[in-house]
Amino acid sequence: MTKRILITREIPKLGLTMLQERGFEVDVCPGETGDASLSQDELISYLTKNQYDGIVSLLTDKIDAKLMEAAPSVKIVANYAAGFNNIDLVETKKRGIVATNTPGVSSIAVAEHAMALMLALTTRIVEADLFTKKGKYQGWSPMAFIGTDLSGKTLGLIGVGSIGIEVARIAAQGFAMKILYYDVVPNEKIEKDYSAQRVATVEELLPQADIVSLHVPLLDSTHHLINAARLKMMKKSAFFINTSRGPVVDEKALVTALKERLIAGAALDVFEFEPELAPGLATLDNVILTPHIASARDHARNEMARIAAQNIIDFFDGNKPQNQVNL
Ligand code: NAD
Repeated sequence: MTKRILITREIPKLGLTMLQERGFEVDVCPGETGDASLSQDELISYLTKNQYDGIVSLLTDKIDAKLMEAAPSVKIVANYAAGFNNIDLVETKKRGIVATNTPGVSSIAVAEHAMALMLALTTRIVEADLFTKKGKYQGWSPMAFIGTDLSGKTLGLIGVGSIGIEVARIAAQGFAMKILYYDVVPNEKIEKDYSAQRVATVEELLPQADIVSLHVPLLDSTHHLINAARLKMMKKSAFFINTSRGPVVDEKALVTALKERLIAGAALDVFEFEPELAPGLATLDNVILTPHIASARDHARNEMARIAAQNIIDFFDGNKPQNQVNL
């Protein structure tokens, strides 16, 4: 019998075509760029219109017991993301539903975005752009927009998996930065290739780093990993970057730290309660914000679509999908 798949928002055509060419019936929930994510009720309402065998979900789709209960025919949830904190893995296992992700293929994109944020902070490009466009540039000034070099500075990486490794590579090889890292697992490769030094605790890393960049998954152990007390441990001249997941940071505490100039600045691609921003965050002059676009590059997004589709094809062919996360 023909299998039916719901893709919860438009993704690159490649994924859709792969599924259709393999005989799947595919529906895509409508939505324009920048539209609010589907609420869970909206998602359930789509899922109950037809009998779906699988879902291609986004990181904003809450895939929990309530949703699984409402769509009992679903046998696979193929997340179109490297992270999978939006899926209740225990519940999927209990119900025999396979959950998959799209790891690795967005790592370079996210690492380059983290570097772009780092450079935007240290070179003050966003402020300078606005200044120039507003017609405020009256002539060269020796004291205008003085920034900071990356070369020779210490980058503190928290989490050095697929993305953190790429950030270490670019920062060490491209910008001659010193790399310190904290990860629950030692990474011999970056120690050998980029002279990275591992520290035993986050507390040891924070006071030494000129820039701190987060690359951990959202887990119980990483929720509010960066909080008020830890922000106070950073250098006053330090910059903070988050391209991982919003709730890894206590965003309210970050706003306070930025307001009180406990740190020099921050750049965020992810938010604790996104798309909402913590009160006061958007009006600070020492913060740069992007709307969760770190993986928004043609190569990464095409690959994510291809892998999500392939996981579904493999599953219905009777094979174990390569990227199953609930083993
Ligand atoms: P990964 O699994 O390859 O690496 C994660 C690393 O974090 C691992 O080395 C792991 O040992 C470490 N870690 C886990 N728990 C830790 C803890 N408590 N303390 C310290 N280290 C810990 O994941 P990845 O592909 O590098 O991605 C990291 C995260 O980035 C994803 O889980 C996702 O949430 C996020 N991400 C964001 C975007 C974006 O668009 N902004 C895109 C892709 C991924």
